[in-house]
Amino acid sequence: MHRHRTWVEVSERALTHNIETLRLLLEKNARFCAVLKSNAYGHGLKEVAQIAGRAGVDAFAVDSIDEALSLRALFPSSLIIVLGYTLFERYEDAIKSNIHLTLYDKEGIEQAESVAKQLAKQAQIHLKIETGTSRQGVLKDDLLDLLKDLQRMPHVRLAGVSTHFANIEDSSNPEYATLQFSRFQEAVDAVRELGFDPELVHCACSAAIILYPDTHATLVRAGISLYGLWSSELVQQTVRNQHLKCDLRPALTWKTRVAQVKSISMGTPVGYGLTEVMKRRGRIAVIPVGYFDGFDRGLSSVGEVLIRGCRCKVIGRICMNMCMVDVSSVPDIQKEDEVILLGTEGRHVISADDMAKKIGTINYEIVTRINPIIPRLVI
Ligand SMILES: *Cc1c(COP(=O)(O)O)cnc(C)c1O
Repeated sequence: MHRHRTWVEVSERALTHNIETLRLLLEKNARFCAVLKSNAYGHGLKEVAQIAGRAGVDAFAVDSIDEALSLRALFPSSLIIVLGYTLFERYEDAIKSNIHLTLYDKEGIEQAESVAKQLAKQAQIHLKIETGTSRQGVLKDDLLDLLKDLQRMPHVRLAGVSTHFANIEDSSNPEYATLQFSRFQEAVDAVRELGFDPELVHCACSAAIILYPDTHATLVRAGISLYGLWSSELVQQTVRNQHLKCDLRPALTWKTRVAQVKSISMGTPVGYGLTEVMKRRGRIAVIPVGYFDGFDRGLSSVGEVLIRGCRCKVIGRICMNMCMVDVSSVPDIQKEDEVILLGTEGRHVISADDMAKKIGTINYEIVTRINPIIPRLVI
């Protein structure tokens, strides 16, 4: 038995199932890239990478060069793509380790050319196209000039062309996503007309993978769905309504143990600020988890946990490293009993979606904010 006070369990079986399920949806030429940014959506970067590697994914995508280098240490020859911003002084690390960079401007590609030339290597780059998200990307008007610059750069290889959708999760109205996709196709055509032959053309995130096979191109980037969560409730509904074969299984369970149990009389205030009192005589349990761990302070008085198969409500404010829950209805509760913060026990489920709804956010934020110093155990 491990000795962790709080930990995250990651199910290899669920992750593998999700990868296989998503792969069955892919168009013929599409390769599968596992998006492992933000500590693999809170599931543990190295832990998930190893599982995804065993499941035979074709590529990994991360946000930063640091994440990419830690994957490179595990996978000496896999395709690794940095999706986010890379500082100029880190291009050398990327080029030396054959890590693909996402670039979109003249300064970036010039830096890539000059560093690669000095190293007598090639920089592998993906050109990100701005199609309407107004995030990273080269605007249509600047694309031709950028491509012409690239033609003069023998040490830069255009390995990929990509874009990212702004609202593809809103499957009730795919109009804007369709517009973005047609802009992307025009850009890819322009790239090819200038004599480039990018091997990796990619734009599909989870919602697009599941609902819009036309967008798969030659690589898809699966994030949230890989972890068994839905991009949005609408996507989940659309899958149900259209009877698509896509059952996702949440892979993460977040657990801790009871630190103290005590009986409290009616009217006793609980926690900082005296925001809540016991409504009748009962018992509370102190739980060694707080907002530092990623148990959001917004869950004060509204969050729930599972103990011995019972739902227990958070009472009072969530502290930095602790919180209190009402365990009046839990039979025979003991100190050091296991507590489920996220996950399933018997007929009860506390999902990332439930938790997200309570604090006005999305499941992505719930799982990515589970503090990375909490151990991740593969089960
Ligand atoms: C995070 C991210 C993804 C994955 O999106 P999901 O909705 O989690 O599948 C794909 N592409 C880019 C550029 C991203 O930043």
